[in-house]
Amino acid sequence: MVAKNIHILEERISSACLSAKRNRNEVKLIAVSKTYPVSEIENAFKFGLVDFGENRAQELNQKSELFDGAVNWHFIGHLQTNKVKYVIKPAEYIHSVESKKLADEINLQAEKIGKIQKILLEFNASDEESKYGLKNEYDLFELAEYCKGKSNIKLAGLMTMAPFTDDQKIIRQTFSKVRELKEKMNNEGFELNELSMGMTNDFEIAIEEGSTMLRIGTAIFGDRG
Ligand SMILES: *Cc1c(COP(=O)(O)O)cnc(C)c1O
Repeated sequence: MVAKNIHILEERISSACLSAKRNRNEVKLIAVSKTYPVSEIENAFKFGLVDFGENRAQELNQKSELFDGAVNWHFIGHLQTNKVKYVIKPAEYIHSVESKKLADEINLQAEKIGKIQKILLEFNASDEESKYGLKNEYDLFELAEYCKGKSNIKLAGLMTMAPFTDDQKIIRQTFSKVRELKEKMNNEGFELNELSMGMTNDFEIAIEEGSTMLRIGTAIFGDRG
């Protein structure tokens, strides 16, 4: 089941890259394994996936303990400051940073274990529904500037979620807005390489709009029910 899903998904990712004139290896596939048991992660790993995303701190912590360094873990959910301690060791990237308070805590916990934590800032380009993420450009630049001063944080890029809609135009606008923000930030001296955007229902558009990290659950593991 998972093997077949990965195969089909790979074909779709490759063909989206091709039509967007992008190299397949510019786009990282993160398998979102939240709620799924470790056996499913092992399956996906066997079929070549190495990046896994979780949205609950303790779940990420517990699952990661069962693997050695071969797996790259991504924390993609809303993160409370008191849970940072669970993700700081396993997470290669934390995708969902949205406040100074959270940046402070990540920096502190990373410093404790002698790590430079790679993070992305979450931008809420659709300013509705989701409570999370930075809602305007000013706050985004301010937080990015703030992170520059933190010695144990490396700001690697931006993350966003498209609004829940079938309207492809709105989805595309969301992704292109975040891509433009990244370009603007880089023009002002930041060095952001990553754009974490695209899920099961919208990853092809995300690839066309420059995504470098797809976060895909359902198309790999099936419905979470
Ligand atoms: C669950 C989740 C995903 C994956 O969603 P699918 O539609 O199952 O591909 C991606 N990003 C975040 C932040 C999630 O919480």
